[in-house]
Amino acid sequence: MKWPGRQRRPVLEPVDGDTVLEFRGVGRTYPGPPPVTALRPASLSVRQGDFVTVSGRSGSGKSTFLNIAGLLDTPTEGQYVLGGVDVSRLTGAERAAVRGRRIGFVFQSFHLMPHRTALENAELGMVYAGVPRRERTGRAREVLCSVGLGHRLDALPSRLSGGERQRVAIARALAGRPTLLLCDEPTGNLDSATADAVLGLLDELNDQGMTVVVITHDAAVAARGSRRITIRDGALSEAVPATVG
Ligand code: ADP
Ligand code: MG
Repeated sequence: MKWPGRQRRPVLEPVDGDTVLEFRGVGRTYPGPPPVTALRPASLSVRQGDFVTVSGRSGSGKSTFLNIAGLLDTPTEGQYVLGGVDVSRLTGAERAAVRGRRIGFVFQSFHLMPHRTALENAELGMVYAGVPRRERTGRAREVLCSVGLGHRLDALPSRLSGGERQRVAIARALAGRPTLLLCDEPTGNLDSATADAVLGLLDELNDQGMTVVVITHDAAVAARGSRRITIRDGALSEAVPATVG
């Protein structure tokens, strides 16, 4: 892999153990004026195979958390270690390269290209992941089949239902074989039955070993996580699992 500028750093090399995401005192203050501490210094370790939900009210800091976890923004304090690599001090170009290879995004409003078919949309997920062009179509077909859309490969998004669109978006996110699936209100635009089906798909992917982080303001969605984190005024806290018996 080529890095811009003089330095060539093996930014992606170490993936130690099964820790996918680690926040070490990660915080974010927007400079203002007045300065706003949207994320108070937090430590958090997400392991491979975790299904984490992060929930909180509007203004609590969810987007700030998502942007940092998704390498769209950088912390103003602390260290963010993703796959064993400190990504908190990378350049923008390096961050983009890591993001494309490590993180699959799923958004509330799907963000599909309207004039591209389901297959083409899924292929786009691999451009930034550095998958050679000749491999993209086969892999896109494979992931679309795995989300139950093998019969809709040539459909444009406008011909798909909301649930199908979100499946295409999930397929696109998975196509780059990310280590982390980061979902922002993935069911926010879906009716409850469809939302349930999409959450079921996330469960299935998680059962297959995918690490899933879902950001939501919906308590029912938050309850689906095997680890439930709440944000309140920028402070993260995790519910302690109830002991059985
Ligand atoms: P949520 O996604 O939970 O609604 P945000 O992370 O968007 O919360 O915002 C958390 C806090 O940070 C809010 O008080 C918001 O007003 C503030 N905030 C968000 N973005 C900025 C910014 N770019 N500059 C200043 N303050 C911001
Ligand atoms: Mg938000």
